[in-house]
Amino acid sequence: MSSAIFNFNNSYQSLGESFFEWVKPTPVQSPGLLLFNHSLANDLGLSVDLSENSSSKLEQIFSGNQLTEGSEPMAQAYAGHQFGYFTMLGDGRAILLGEHITPSQQRFDIQLKGSGPTPYSRRGDGRATLKAMLREYLISESMHGLGIPTSRSLAIVKSGEKVYREEIQDGAILTRIMQSHIRVGSFEYVNHYLTKEDLKAYTYYTLARHYPLAAVENPALSLLKKVLIQQVHLIVHWMRVGFIHGVMNTDNMSIAGETFDYGPCAFMNGYDPAKVFSSIDTNGRYAFANQPGIAHWNLSCLANALLPIIHDNQEQSVELAKEVLNLFPDLYTQEYTDMMAAKIGFSKNQLSDEVVDLVKELLNWMKENQADYTNSFLQIQSVLSPEGIYAGSFFAEWLKKREALLAKQGSSLAQAKELMQFQNPLVIPRNHWVEKVLDSVAFTGDLSSFNAFLQVLQTPYMSTKNIENYQAPPENGDGFYATYCGT
Ligand code: AMP
Ligand code: MG
Repeated sequence: MSSAIFNFNNSYQSLGESFFEWVKPTPVQSPGLLLFNHSLANDLGLSVDLSENSSSKLEQIFSGNQLTEGSEPMAQAYAGHQFGYFTMLGDGRAILLGEHITPSQQRFDIQLKGSGPTPYSRRGDGRATLKAMLREYLISESMHGLGIPTSRSLAIVKSGEKVYREEIQDGAILTRIMQSHIRVGSFEYVNHYLTKEDLKAYTYYTLARHYPLAAVENPALSLLKKVLIQQVHLIVHWMRVGFIHGVMNTDNMSIAGETFDYGPCAFMNGYDPAKVFSSIDTNGRYAFANQPGIAHWNLSCLANALLPIIHDNQEQSVELAKEVLNLFPDLYTQEYTDMMAAKIGFSKNQLSDEVVDLVKELLNWMKENQADYTNSFLQIQSVLSPEGIYAGSFFAEWLKKREALLAKQGSSLAQAKELMQFQNPLVIPRNHWVEKVLDSVAFTGDLSSFNAFLQVLQTPYMSTKNIENYQAPPENGDGFYATYCGT
């Protein structure tokens, strides 16, 4: 055991052994620390001594080769609906080291991803490729910069071992930080495989951990409502920045409302509501514009898992759950409308049918012209000079209409711009750049282009040095760009 770096205080184990399996990370041959997120370590209040010989100590810890004081490693059990079908899952290549308490008393899961097989690995090797972990690190930290709830990435350690996928690749271990890894699929597991008493205990546990102030008159119903509200916030954020999660299975939907499991996700360039990047999503189930509908569907899976403890009478249980689920469409529409209005410079109290129509007209035009989702709003904000389709008559007319409407609402262009600047990122992790910097690390080991991109992505609303390098969409569009799961 190595000395304390985390302030572990584990609670999940108190639920009992039917909720997880004890399992230690499988040591790797020659760990090498590649990335360490100092600012996150600082925020978490970790006792990391960077002066003496630190990287050799850190790579022992963040590879899983050495456990630190208070660590009680285990793999969590969960199930889930994958592309609509229920199945048993569990942490097949992730191990929870423990729950760290920050100096301000916040609790975070410290998880290793790619740390070796567990009883839930099925046919998998429990490992992860360097490229996939770099991708998760980059995009999760970018999401954090965008102000979107997300898992965070603390470290990447190269394993010094090869991982066998379609081709042989370098292996790596990522340290993932989340408020918890409790998912919709965790409740589906408890409902399907454990007892009603377990379901009750799990609901109490989750409420205490994530929603301690929620009404407890009907704990299951309160939890459902809280999760629903958090998911509405989250999906509206995704729609704001053009993020496509790619694999919104119920096991990848966090109860605390954080984005996680950055497998086949990608940001959209040209606006297309039907956009899909994931190679396995052949029916477009998780397409950009389907995300709110899928979130609603996933919440119905949560409701279903909670039914036995919402009410003793099943019919009443269903009625009560439906009442909560039916809140989704209006809540979502309201928040989405507010967000889109703000993207073109109108505040909540300036909302009118005319503003809603203005947004619709813009989106229709963007779709027809495959206009870049990010840069179109920057054009409206007059951050970029009008070229190409933005120099055409539709856009000029639309801008005039918007200006007149702003004036009618008593708002100036300057006020609108101020409102827009924290809605519309100047930079997103565009696919062609993501691929470029990942390849650079994977093929040459050189981190400079990765770090330069990461730095710009950390403050995406600020006009930082060299930002313009990353702002242009790929010259020939996304072409056949595709992302892959579980790599
Ligand atoms: P995901 O698609 O990443 O959400 O993973 C779905 C399920 O597959 C989870 O239970 C994972 O733990 C498991 N899994 C994915 N990749 C591997 C792997 N290389 N080895 C073992 N299990 C894996
Ligand atoms: Mg997953």
